[in-house]
Amino acid sequence: MSIDRRHFLKTSAMAAAVAAARQRAFGKYENTELDATASGDGVVWDKAPCRFCGTGCHVRVGVKDDKVVAIQGEQLAEVNKGLLCVKGYHVGGILYGKDRLKQPMLRKNGKLEPISWDEAIDVIAERIQENPIEFAIYGSGQWTIPEGYAAQKLIKGGLSNNHIDPNARLCMASAVTGYLSTHGVDEPAGCYTDLDECDVLIMWGNNPAEMHPVLFSRVIDRRSKGEKVMLIDIGTRRTRTTEYCDEYMEFRPNSDLAIANGIAHLLIERGTYDKEFVERFCNFRKDTEKASLMGQASTFEEYAELLKPYTPEYVEKISGVPAEKIRLLADLFGRRDLRITSLWCMGVNQHTRGTNMNRLLHGIHMLSGHFGKPGDAPTSLTGQPSACGTAREVGTLAHALPGGRVVANESHRKDCEAVWNLPEGRINPKPGYHTVLMWEKFCTPSSEGGDVSTIWVQVTNPGHTLPNLKKLFTGKRDLEDKFLIVSEVYPTATTELADLVLPAAMWVEKNGIYGNSERRTQQWFKMVNPPGEARDDTWMTIAVARRLFELGHEGMKDKDGEFIFSVKDESGAEVPIWQWEHYYDLNVDKVLFEEYRQLTFLKHKDVAPYDELVKARGLRWPVVQKEDGSWQETPFRFMEFSDSYVEKGKELQFYHSVTKDDRAQIWFCPYEPATEEPDSAYPMWLCTGRVLEHWHTGTMTRRIPQLRNAMPHAYVEMHPDDAAAQGLANGDLAVVETRRGRIELPVWLNGRGRPPRGTLFVPFFDENLLINELTLGDIDPISKEPDYKKCAAMVYKPNSSKAPASSPTL
Ligand code: SF4
Repeated sequence: MSIDRRHFLKTSAMAAAVAAARQRAFGKYENTELDATASGDGVVWDKAPCRFCGTGCHVRVGVKDDKVVAIQGEQLAEVNKGLLCVKGYHVGGILYGKDRLKQPMLRKNGKLEPISWDEAIDVIAERIQENPIEFAIYGSGQWTIPEGYAAQKLIKGGLSNNHIDPNARLCMASAVTGYLSTHGVDEPAGCYTDLDECDVLIMWGNNPAEMHPVLFSRVIDRRSKGEKVMLIDIGTRRTRTTEYCDEYMEFRPNSDLAIANGIAHLLIERGTYDKEFVERFCNFRKDTEKASLMGQASTFEEYAELLKPYTPEYVEKISGVPAEKIRLLADLFGRRDLRITSLWCMGVNQHTRGTNMNRLLHGIHMLSGHFGKPGDAPTSLTGQPSACGTAREVGTLAHALPGGRVVANESHRKDCEAVWNLPEGRINPKPGYHTVLMWEKFCTPSSEGGDVSTIWVQVTNPGHTLPNLKKLFTGKRDLEDKFLIVSEVYPTATTELADLVLPAAMWVEKNGIYGNSERRTQQWFKMVNPPGEARDDTWMTIAVARRLFELGHEGMKDKDGEFIFSVKDESGAEVPIWQWEHYYDLNVDKVLFEEYRQLTFLKHKDVAPYDELVKARGLRWPVVQKEDGSWQETPFRFMEFSDSYVEKGKELQFYHSVTKDDRAQIWFCPYEPATEEPDSAYPMWLCTGRVLEHWHTGTMTRRIPQLRNAMPHAYVEMHPDDAAAQGLANGDLAVVETRRGRIELPVWLNGRGRPPRGTLFVPFFDENLLINELTLGDIDPISKEPDYKKCAAMVYKPNSSKAPASSPTL
């Protein structure tokens, strides 16, 4: 361990949370073998990615007597080099909450009652058989790759209705559309190495000190070694990240587009943009009147003209960021001697203009030539462990197919039909319902056009995470013809309304593969048995498909009449993997992954063979085989020095360019007001987000005593002057109200986050304080991702005469 890292851990914002587990993290590292190994005390160690965030840290999992007994940071993992955050150190504990779901339960006379797996599978199959086109699966960026792939094959290849969408729609969809409309293909070009190489790190509406702490520590470590890295926080409130930053630029919610345009304007006005880079590698585009993914072609001249209004003074007026700070940002982007990395996550993506803001961030990096070298990168981080791997790469979004394909493209459908051995035309060309529409349809009576009658939720908690919950989730409560199936590990806000609950195996209770934020595919093996009758989600999907096959559903047959999930052993005999007792007779994950792998080459998203992943701590695609037979990953995409798909001498090649000329697109997208802004009735902004200790809805982390005790409940952060104006002090209960509802929360003043006057922040992890009953539900018109970061709200003391808070100073 370096002194610098020790120093960092002692002094950083994360230190308090990390300290308890530090000894374990940096204790003697005994096992560096790739395969599971046993230590003298009978503990068997094996590798796995952390179950939580999209950083994709690797852990060593210690197992004894069929129980996870220890966790270490994996020193051999490039992502985290032995370090974990407080959640990672406690990840083993997520398996052992007292209230694990252990048997299937069916709602009878309003009460969930235990049933057998056979009965549960029958109920689902019969429900589908009755009305296959109104059946939907709502999945997750926490699905393993094989889980998502199997669910997608059932819906798109079997039921032909395309009603499948992952919760990644709620967090990453705008990043997808941003990459697609810029590079012509999804996923970042750079990787975490950019954090080791950059001179300037700009965080756009991003709080990595709490949300991606291990990544943030890579930069802080460099500073403690004496390296100069300038950190800039462009945010709507001060956070733990701000404390480390050289510059903090506070902007009015929704005005980030004006800031990005202001930088581009100055680069052009001053002539400090990278003319050569732009001429060699870029085209220009702008939005059409009706927002669309590819917009329309534009020119440099038109782009420059459209940017003209975005003077620093005009941007200051819109955003509140002083004009000289906009000039400072343009100064930095105008310098060729610096390497600049931009990071963003939900602050940019959960935005009614999320696609546009993604485009603009890519655009200022392209315009200034800060792209194509290690340390020069615009990168969107993910919040879930396999939002990239399963939602985006496997293509479980309602319009997508595996490997960057879409259902609307005939040749893409044919590719999948060929690999799945389906009759031509089996895959429906019409995209299914995206998340918000799926739930809206589900919560609308069938007689009024609500044509989703059954949803099967896998590995996620929409009863907690959907926006505007009363409309999009609890509306189901009184609709008797709607049926909600939930496979879960613990009781949640979603299981509360479920008609059928399926107990699921989790994390190292099953085989798995994830794909993290930097295109790294990570494999692990089952290490312990799940409790009671809990079973793998992939098995559930296959078992339901098989029951449909037995009921004669034509969609469950391939073109030779065989079961679509048929798996043969070496002798050619079918293995009945739909029977739980035979599911692990062979490695179903490997079978499904190798099938999926055949679909990854078209868009150069070549994942490594399963057996190579077994040997590694993740490999970044495209993974290509070299002449000597070895496999090589690609840290930097589109760049000749790293990406073997770039033609010799091209230096940089956007080989899936939408303009088919190997160029990226620089977009002009105007600043536009938010769809709901503070007014006289609701005079404050409400922003929601996460906390260090809890992962998303807290289903797992709230069952770990150390994490639960460290952060027991949600709160509302507000400015002390706003609190005083309402007669509220630290710890008092306050009512937060929007046009959609109200909740009471304790006030936290001058805590971790310090919002400016006129802004409230509430974390969403607490199932007893569902802030999403208040959030908006308006979506980006292109990505269909909802905005959770801003709506109009008021705050007041309970039982006081209801009065708006003081006028915001924004
Ligand atoms: S929660 Fe994220 S940052 Fe923390 S250990 Fe897990 S993967 Fe790493």
